[in-house]
Formats: sequence, C-alpha cells, structure tokens
Amino acid sequence: MQDDEEFEVTYECIGCGDEITESMYEHIDHEINPDNPLCYKCSVAQQTCEFCDKQATRVYGENYVCDDHGPDPD
Ligand SMILES: [Zn+2]
Ligand SMILES: [Zn+2]
Repeated sequence: MQDDEEFEVTYECIGCGDEITESMYEHIDHEINPDNPLCYKCSVAQQTCEFCDKQATRVYGENYVCDDHGPDPD
C-alpha cells in the first residue's frame, strides 16, 4: 500500500512536548528549528515584550508583546 498524501514532518516541542507541524506556521512568520523545536507559544515565551521587560505572550505585527501591550481583543 502506498500513501500518496503529502507527508508532513512533525516535531516535538522541547518546551512543553506538544506536537508541532510545519503547517501550523503557514499563517505566521515563524520557522521551526529542527534541532531545537519549539511550539509557537514556547518560542514566544522566550522573547521579551518590545515595550516593557515582561515576558512576551504573543506577536503583534512584527513585535513581541506582553498581555499589557498586546492588541485589545475587542
Ligand atoms: Zn511548547
Ligand atoms: Zn509589555
């Protein structure tokens, strides 16, 4: 039996153990480092907010931002 479906590489996040795939990052500017795979959340958590010294929780535009400086959810 041959599977013609496109094979997708999966990685295991070294931070939380979550499974990560390339397609999870299609819509955002983030690349998986195969030697040091981190899911989106864990890679963002390694960054510092652009506007203060808190840990970043998300990406806003091209900046890493914390909850205080992120976009309003409304
Ligand atoms: Zn993770
Ligand atoms: Zn901040």
